[in-house]
Amino acid sequence: MGKPTGFLEFERVKETYAPVEERVRHFGEFVPTLTLDEAKQQGARCMDCGIPFCNNGCPVNNVIPDWNDLVYRGNWEQAIRVLHSTNNFPEFTGRICPAPCESACTLGINAAPVGIKSIERAIIDRAWEHGWVKPLPAAVKSGKQVAVVGSGPAGLAAAQQLARAGHAVTVFEKNGRVGGLLRYGIPDFKLDKSVIDRRMAQMEAEGVTFKVNTLVSSDQDLPKGVTNDATTVVTPAELEAQFDAVILAGGSETPRDLPVPGREFSGIHFALEFLIPQNKAVAGDGANGINAQGKHVVVIGGGDTGSDCVGTSNRHGALSVTQLEVMPKPPVEEDKPMTWPYWPLKLRTSSSHEEGCVREFAVSTKEFIGENGKLTALKLVKVEFKDGKLTEIPGSEFELKADLVFLAMGFTQPLAKVLDSFGVEKDPRGNIKATTDGAGCYATSVPKVFAAGDMRRGQSLVVWAIREGRQCAREVDQFLMGSTVLPR
Ligand SMILES: Cc1cc2nc3c(=O)[nH]c(=O)nc-3n(C[C@H](O)[C@H](O)[C@H](O)COP(=O)(O)OP(=O)(O)OC[C@H]3O[C@@H](n4cnc5c(N)ncnc54)[C@H](O)[C@@H]3O)c2cc1C
Ligand code: SF4
Repeated sequence: MGKPTGFLEFERVKETYAPVEERVRHFGEFVPTLTLDEAKQQGARCMDCGIPFCNNGCPVNNVIPDWNDLVYRGNWEQAIRVLHSTNNFPEFTGRICPAPCESACTLGINAAPVGIKSIERAIIDRAWEHGWVKPLPAAVKSGKQVAVVGSGPAGLAAAQQLARAGHAVTVFEKNGRVGGLLRYGIPDFKLDKSVIDRRMAQMEAEGVTFKVNTLVSSDQDLPKGVTNDATTVVTPAELEAQFDAVILAGGSETPRDLPVPGREFSGIHFALEFLIPQNKAVAGDGANGINAQGKHVVVIGGGDTGSDCVGTSNRHGALSVTQLEVMPKPPVEEDKPMTWPYWPLKLRTSSSHEEGCVREFAVSTKEFIGENGKLTALKLVKVEFKDGKLTEIPGSEFELKADLVFLAMGFTQPLAKVLDSFGVEKDPRGNIKATTDGAGCYATSVPKVFAAGDMRRGQSLVVWAIREGRQCAREVDQFLMGSTVLPR
């Protein structure tokens, strides 16, 4: 704890966003990294409270009080060493993690929590800037080959850990570029894609091979709404014959549909059918797909994906953007004594919401209305909880004008055909069945096949994917070598 009175002297530094009218004119990032002084002051607010709840609130168990102290003292090189000891990719989490650590911060009980996420980002951005992030190739090679299916944060974390343990790792990705949802789901204004490219270059220098445009499956017929840019197909049998272990880290890609009357009208799309072409266009990989300019846009679903559709629609110049959420509006502030140190239920207003969006809560879509096969409006109804069930309020129906609807209601499960082609057992939700604790964790029902990330746990967060990739790598190393020094 660098400064014992820091939490009494300094306020939380709120990250400054570029003004709305300026940032909606481009797709670039608009949140600058903290300056040295800001980061130092924020680090000084950490109370090093003895039991670091933040460390437990963080899914990768970042050693937060230690690097807060190091930043306060100006020892940035040591700070990045400590940060990298638990997190392969702090530049991703430092930008897009919802920061459950901050909900767990003890200072947050009666004051604003330490700006942990912004310090994390300051450490890693500074480390890249100063050339402190270098490839760490293994000194001794094991002679073992590992295949990783999927290049999202789970696959990347597993691949990096295993390459550093001396294994020859090949990552297979069906899409044209590496990164999973970091690359194609999350817009550039939240995560600039050069951040992924420089990590990829580091991993290649550590010996990881990336095979893009390559689908691993014996059934290529993927569900509607799932992107597949593969020009090559590898079967699970080929993979299992060639590699000593396989990790399935293909995410949870099956989008939840809304099968109400009128679903067939043109103008109704899954969120990723909107977001992926936009990300590709920014990368120069194709033309913009759906354009929201001059349109009345309705986004159905109140989570991150929905929020990204809001931000993208506003950047296109939509006439109006409305976001619908079926659940009631949560309280603006959480009841701290009730919720701390856990992730509280409260109204979350993203930077995209601030850019212009009407948010409707407790509404359900009854029908899509259209003319000549084209969407023109939605028929909605207000709902409330009755006897623990969401129930329509009689007489509360209303119509909302819409030219475009984006369905952002989450993802139901991984690609069943991919799982079936490997023959792995599924859990009741359709994810790959594998435990995360004890002997044989992360192993599937098929010998030498492991699973991590959203493909195992269902749709989740980047930080959980990194945790699972790291932990799974440890289990694979143990399986291949009989012992491991990789951290959990
Ligand atoms: C629009 C959107 C915004 C989000 N925003 C946030 C956010 O702000 N913060 C946050 O923490 N989380 C966010 N999330 C969630 C987060 O992106 C995911 O939880 C995380 O990326 C999961 O990582 P993963 O590695 O398990 O899978 P993914 O990132 O989904 O990667 C899986 C990869 O595997 C590939 N693949 C699948 N099957 C095969 C196959 N058979 N052969 C070859 N390749 C295959 C896919 O093409 C994909 O590239 C968001 C999700 C979406 C959709
Ligand atoms: S990864 Fe997320 S939870 Fe962990 S320290 Fe960073 S912002 Fe907090």
